[in-house]
Formats: sequence, C-alpha cells, structure tokens
Amino acid sequence: MARFVQPVPAPADPYTGDPLLRSWLDRQLGPAGHAAAEGRLTDLAADVSGPLRAAHADAEAHPPTLVRYDPWGARIDRVDTSAGWQAQRAAAARHAVVALPYLDSARGEWGAAARVVQHALLHLYGAESATFSCPVAMADGAAALLSRPEVDRSVRDAWLPRLTATDPDVAVTSGQWMTEAQGGSDLSRSDTVARPAGDGSWRLTGEKWFCSAVDSAMAVALARPEGAGPGSRVLAPFLVPRYAADSPLADGGDPTGCAPGVRVHRLKDKLGTRALPTAEVGLREAYALPLGDPAQPGLVRAMTLVVVTRLHNAAAAVSGMRRGLAYARAYADARQVAGGRLVDSPLHKATLGTLGVDTAGAFVLAGHAFALFGRVEVGADPDAAAELRVVAPLAKLATGRLAVACASEYVEAFGGAGYVEDTGVPRLLRDAQVLPIWEGTTNVLALDVLRAVTREDAARPLLRRLAAAADTARSLSPALAHTLTAVTEELRDTFVTITADPGGVEAVAGARAVALRAAYALAAALLVEHAAWGDEAADVAARLWARRWLRHEEIALDAHQHLDLLC
Ligand SMILES: Cc1cc2nc3c(=O)[nH]c(=O)nc-3n(C[C@H](O)[C@H](O)[C@H](O)COP(=O)(O)OP(=O)(O)OC[C@H]3O[C@@H](n4cnc5c(N)ncnc54)[C@H](O)[C@@H]3O)c2cc1C
Repeated sequence: MARFVQPVPAPADPYTGDPLLRSWLDRQLGPAGHAAAEGRLTDLAADVSGPLRAAHADAEAHPPTLVRYDPWGARIDRVDTSAGWQAQRAAAARHAVVALPYLDSARGEWGAAARVVQHALLHLYGAESATFSCPVAMADGAAALLSRPEVDRSVRDAWLPRLTATDPDVAVTSGQWMTEAQGGSDLSRSDTVARPAGDGSWRLTGEKWFCSAVDSAMAVALARPEGAGPGSRVLAPFLVPRYAADSPLADGGDPTGCAPGVRVHRLKDKLGTRALPTAEVGLREAYALPLGDPAQPGLVRAMTLVVVTRLHNAAAAVSGMRRGLAYARAYADARQVAGGRLVDSPLHKATLGTLGVDTAGAFVLAGHAFALFGRVEVGADPDAAAELRVVAPLAKLATGRLAVACASEYVEAFGGAGYVEDTGVPRLLRDAQVLPIWEGTTNVLALDVLRAVTREDAARPLLRRLAAAADTARSLSPALAHTLTAVTEELRDTFVTITADPGGVEAVAGARAVALRAAYALAAALLVEHAAWGDEAADVAARLWARRWLRHEEIALDAHQHLDLLC
C-alpha cells in the first residue's frame, strides 16, 4: 500500500492574503497613501514567503554560539550567528523595517502615518524573522531615544544614521541592557554604576543579566550615576559601544573584538527565541556616552525606548497570531477528517474563526498604538500622547497574552504534527511565550496602567474613545452599542474607585483584571471604528469580540459561519 504523505498547501501571501491589514492601510493612509506603500509591502511579503522563510528555518536550526577564547587563550567573547540570522539582518535593513519612520521621503509621503506603514512592515516581517524582530525593536527604540533633543548632537550624528541605514553594510542594531539579576521589573535595585571620565564620556561598571541581540554594535544601558542616590528615577541611559572598533579605549587590536571593559559571560539557554543571542554581560569601566544629562533623572528618557519596544512587542505578537492562523487554515484546507476536509468541519471552523476574532482584536490594538505614536512624534499631538500613555501598556499586555493562547491553539490545530520540531510549528508557541514577559510582565504593565489612570489622567482619553465608539456602534448593532456603553460606565466607576485609593489592596490586587477589561473594551471600540468606516470583517469581529471578551459568551456558531471573512 502506498505510504500516505500529507500535502500541505502554502499559506496565502501575507500581504495580499490579509484583508484586514489591507483595509486598515486604506483607512489609515487613504487610497493614494496605501498605493504608495504597496511596492514596499509586496516586496517584503515576497521575501518573507521565499528566502526569509528559509533563512528563518536556518537561524532556528543553527542557534548562536559564544566563543570565549581564541586558540592561544586570549579572551575574545565572540558570538557566532548563522547565515539565516545574517540574512534576516540584511533584510531588516533593506526593507527599512527600522528606518522607515526616520526617512525624510517616508515622512514626506505619509507624515505621522509613516509609523502605520512601519507597523505593516513589522506585521509582515516579524513572524518569520527568527525573532530578528527583537533587535529591530531595540534599534528603533534606541533611534527614538537618540532623536530626543536632550541627546548630544555629536552622539546622535555618530549613531542615528547607522541605526536607521537601509544599506545592510552600514546598518547596525542595538541591544538594551537594563535587567540585572536582582531586578528586571524592579529597576530601583539596579547596581550598575556610571562614573564621569572628565571628557564627556563615562565609564560603566556592573552586571547585566539579560542582554538580547548581544551581537549588536551598541547597547543602551541603564546605570546609576555616581552619587545619584537610590531609586529608579535617577537611573540614566548610556550608549555603550559593543565592539572595539567603536570604543576610543581600544588600543589597536582586533576591531571586531569586544570593546574594552565589555565581557560576554555566557549565552542564555532559552525556551524559545533560540536564534536570538541573549547574554549575560559584565561591564568593567566600559566606555559609555550619556543620552541626555545624567544629572537629570533619566528613567523618563529611557521610557522613550521602552514605549517603542512595547509597541514592537505588540506588533510581533499580532504578526505571529496572523501567520499561525494562515498556517492552520492552509493545513485545514488540505487535511481530510471524517470523510471530508478539516476546514469543512463546523467545529474546526468555529475554532479557527474564534482565533480570527482574537487576531482581529489584537491587530487593531497594535495598529492603533503605532498610529498614535506617529502623531506624537510628528505633530507633538498632546491628545495622542495622553492616549498613548495608556494604550502602549494595554496593547502590549493584551496582545502578549492572546499570542500565547492562540499559539497553543495553532499547535493543536496541526494535531501531532504541531508538536514535531521540523514542521516549524512548535516554535510558534515557544516564541510567543516571551511576549508577555519582556518589556514588562502582565502584572508590571497592569500596575503601569493603574498608575496612568489614577495619577496621569490617562483614563480621560480612553473613556472618550470608548464612549464615542459606543455611539458609533448604534448604527451597527444595538447589542454591541449596549455592551460598549455598559462597559464604558463600568470602567468609569472602577477608575473613580481605584483613584480614591490607588495604593490600596483592592486596586493593586485587581489591577490585572482592570487592565485586561480596559484593553478588551479598547479593542472592541477600535473594531467598531473600523467597521463604521466600512470594513465587513471588522463589523463581524467587533460583534464577536465584544460577546467573547466583554460579555463572556460562546461565539462558536457565528465564528463558524464567518470563517472565510475572519481568516
Ligand atoms: C528571552 C528574553 C529576552 C530578554 N531580553 C532582555 C534584554 O535584551 N534586555 C533587558 O534588559 N532585559 C531582557 N529580558 C529580561 C526581561 O525584561 C525581564 O525578565 C522582565 O522584565 C522580568 O523581570 P525579572 O526577570 O526580574 O522578573 P521579576 O521582576 O522578578 O518578576 C517575577 C514575577 O513577579 C511579578 N512581579 C514583578 N514585580 C511585581 C509587582 N510590583 N507586583 C506584582 N507582581 C510583580 C512579575 O509579573 C513576574 O511574574 C529578557 C527576558 C527574556 C525572557
């Protein structure tokens, strides 16, 4: 008897096969703006479906290694990465996934919405980048920080063009050295000390516990300026050149070696993100340049970077969700069960359709955060800034959790094959699990949301958007409008209660539930806005999302009926 071999069709093109992405771009950019982006998006999608998919597999199969000594015993701390990782690096530069919002041509074409186009690029790129999306995120964060007016011009001029280069031979990425063994979430416990060298440069000494993309040319490190006192607010961001070529302290020698005072102790053996070199790094009087005046509390400056990386985290989460769904759909189209195609099973249809609803809600959260960020950068728009203050942590925390839950479903959607390494499917789950951890765990972000709404008046723009969407929803569906109105009032009451005693046990213990409720309400509102603009899939997704996440109802029957619209 002939051996059965499962044929699996390729998933749809990630750009042309993603109607929500396309209609979102139509709405956010206008038809002409979207047309202007089409060439970039088509090129990247073609690359992702071809050479980058292969590069991704290669990078996963050949994780980075640390070579600590040369043959003669000299300490070199060289991190070797695969050809696939290098191909991802080159593609990220070539497709301007970091650079786009910094290019004059892009700002001229799309203005604030250059960040919308960048989000579309990240949406296409992230899922099969072997997590090169991580150094991309940190490079963008570093570029945004370097763009701040407080940063010394000579430092900006030396590094910003490299971070935002589109020539792979020139482009560099950045690490971000914040977490120490005694504190990641709690940065107030940071021990790394910065000492002025007297010539404008500083020297950093300390131990950094999680340093991803340690092969990058630079890192933004947090350190406590000598004499600055305790706490986290006084921590200041410094730019640390990673390689001898960029360190004035290097005395000849190999320019590709470590900068003097920088040591890579070991690479982490991680659950996922296996292609990404994440290291423990020691600093001993390492050369560093201040990013802003270290005498001024610096954590607020470093938050520029953190907001950007949180947005990227949301983009990566949604990118993985959308690609996982495309793969699961392709498999269901091909697989036979119970005498028919798997995709024709009402139950499997409902399973995939529900994932489509979750993906749509997550997409608009990430998309909205990028759109707001563009308005803050370009127009210094105070309304956008106030809203972004709460949208950034909400988008990051909700999409991170959804990405893990959905990845688990995608693995299951492949049956046993989903558990087998060389199908590439298990990686979806492994790589998703980092998303709710780094750049703020769910609890840490929930506390950030609590701070934002109780101390920084961020509740106002959020409630305004929810109330407006409730109004808009009246013409779409009375039930949806009713749900949104009720949840808006409920959140308004909750915010009043927790503002009365923000440090009280009730507010703190309940912070995660409140943040998730606010994030789910926001996603419903954003889907309503997109539906009201005329997107049919958003209309369905808005109703089903609100029933699933705000009313906790079962949506299987409707999700099954609308599968083709939802994925
Ligand atoms: C793959 C990977 C890559 C990473 N890359 C980098 C990097 O490049 N640079 C970098 O600086 N860091 C990096 N990190 C570190 C990451 O940012 C931290 O691990 C994260 O911020 C959590 O900090 P922690 O490990 O100290 O955990 P902890 O802060 O000890 O958290 C432990 C638990 O306590 C909870 N918790 C913490 N504080 C509170 C609180 N106040 N109230 C309630 N609950 C709380 C958390 O939610 C968590 O569940 C990386 C981590 C991973 C896994």
